[in-house]
Amino acid sequence: MAQRTPLMAGNWKMNLDHQQAIQTLQKLAWTLKDAKHDYSTVEVAVIPPFTDLRSVQTLVDADKLEIVYGAQDVSAHTSGAYTGEIAPAFLTKLGVTYAVIGHSERREYHAESDELVNAKVKNALGAGLAPILCVGEKLDVRKAGEQVPVTLAQLDGGLAGLTAEQVREVVVAYEPVWAIGTGETATPEDAQELCEAIRVRIAELYDQDTADAVRVLYGGSVKSSNVASIMAKPDVDGALVGGASLDPEEFAKIVRYQS
Ligand code: PEP
Repeated sequence: MAQRTPLMAGNWKMNLDHQQAIQTLQKLAWTLKDAKHDYSTVEVAVIPPFTDLRSVQTLVDADKLEIVYGAQDVSAHTSGAYTGEIAPAFLTKLGVTYAVIGHSERREYHAESDELVNAKVKNALGAGLAPILCVGEKLDVRKAGEQVPVTLAQLDGGLAGLTAEQVREVVVAYEPVWAIGTGETATPEDAQELCEAIRVRIAELYDQDTADAVRVLYGGSVKSSNVASIMAKPDVDGALVGGASLDPEEFAKIVRYQS
């Protein structure tokens, strides 16, 4: 079975301007250095607003940081008359590794459909970015016990038309909408149920080796106090962390969940 390196990714959302981003990233790097963090055992990513990326790149390069960084979205287009959009090639030029795609806040506030999410995933992959494809159910769906089929339908939509080779570059984040920013965390069993279902679905769509290679993260009110029990589940390969990633000491504790 493929060895999957856990990924802890901090989604800063629309917080921290470029100066605050530098301070936060420096503090995170120092804290992890003090703790002698081995980045080959747990990968660490920050996902700042677009306007911070150049500053983040400068700091990462200057201090030779092993922290990688991502963007919170990407355009489905490569260039042209798309005011306000960001092409994936602009991001790779800034050293960006990941692009979050289909976050529930984009689906909800910007009416992003599975078709658009799929187009963004393809566009990101085409430029060498690794998509972090977000899927997950709303509260009414969970109450109706429909979380598995609804989440898997989003997964199918997001991955449509990809080859197995491309899917291996994708990180899937299972984020139940009712647990995002609410302080309400899914239980480790809830997280495992969906992360496992996602992996089984990838095996059905592709093959077992591909399913074993894809990292599946959990996201939704992850904190240092609950991360270890979630990470103990076999199909959870990391976390997409919102609020708690804005505090570098707290995020460092999440990264260091094994210590
Ligand atoms: C997120 O927005 O991806 C997220 C998981 O947020 P929070 O950790 O704040 O719930």
